Amino acid sequence: MADLGKRVLITGAAGFLGSHLTDAVLATGAEVIGVDNFCTGSPDNLQHLKHESRFSFEQADICKPFDFGPVDFVFNFASPASPVDYMKLGPETLRVGSDGTVNALDLARKYNAGFLHASTSECYGDPEQHPQTESYWGNVNPIGPRSVYDEAKRFSEATIMAYHRYYGVRSSMVRIFNTYGPRLQPNDGRVISNLMMQALSGADLTVYGDGSQTRSFCYVSDLVRGIVALAQSGEPLPTNIGNPVEWTILECAHAVLKVTGSSSKIVYRPMPVDDPKQRKPDITKAKALLNWEPEVSLEQGLRLSQDYFQSRVETLAAVR
Ligand code: UDP
Repeated sequence: MADLGKRVLITGAAGFLGSHLTDAVLATGAEVIGVDNFCTGSPDNLQHLKHESRFSFEQADICKPFDFGPVDFVFNFASPASPVDYMKLGPETLRVGSDGTVNALDLARKYNAGFLHASTSECYGDPEQHPQTESYWGNVNPIGPRSVYDEAKRFSEATIMAYHRYYGVRSSMVRIFNTYGPRLQPNDGRVISNLMMQALSGADLTVYGDGSQTRSFCYVSDLVRGIVALAQSGEPLPTNIGNPVEWTILECAHAVLKVTGSSSKIVYRPMPVDDPKQRKPDITKAKALLNWEPEVSLEQGLRLSQDYFQSRVETLAAVR
């Protein structure tokens, strides 16, 4: 396994995944430069690094070219990522997945740095192959409401392959499946944050459609461990990282009620347009290549997240 090097740059470092990745890369002994424009990320996620001498932060929009000195590795994690956020910030999402990715790649090329991009299971769209292997090309609506995210991420993948093939950039890309844990924005509309916040505040749990659509939820520490291993491997082709245990959304709501001990009731709301009916990663490749697999079950992960969501409920209650 190769070293990531001494100086690592992480775009989107103030986001949910970017901030956990920052912690993991600092733990390897490297220096980290975090870059974020706080479009959806929050300074709160980096607050604990205030006195960390190996961490520095640059507030910048990566849609414009950027350079904060030589780096050995670039992790490209900048993008709105929850459906509510990227649908609100459609043009910004397209720009960060196109101009932003090109600028991050230009930086890696300039300094001959390694590169890892946060891609997504959304590249598979509403999949007709189940579970999804990396060789599946996907079933994406190119003009639907989710297209601003899906096509930006697919464009990023094409651009990264071109920089790899034409310019020899040492690149990797991870296709990330649904992930949760502390630092998820409490109001970003994702299912785990919504259900946990609702259960802990005594509100009704909103299940969209009849709740029979499925997702596979990975706890953040498992995901980040897989991403660091993938970066060290230098594997250039897309690699799924996620938890293959599949849950219907209704089962997930019941798991949240069980873990929190909440007596909230479940209510049904309309299904969003183009909401994928099923999603589950095939992680055969990651297991063989990285000797990686998730260790934290959904119930364990919800327990590990409960204090964080409880503190967010209390903060929101205090400002009201
Ligand atoms: N969902 C739900 N209730 C909510 C939020 C989401 O039933 O309060 C459903 C949503 O329709 C989707 C699944 O949960 O089928 C996961 O949604 P999320 O926004 O977390 O991410 P996605 O996997 O769709 O990108």
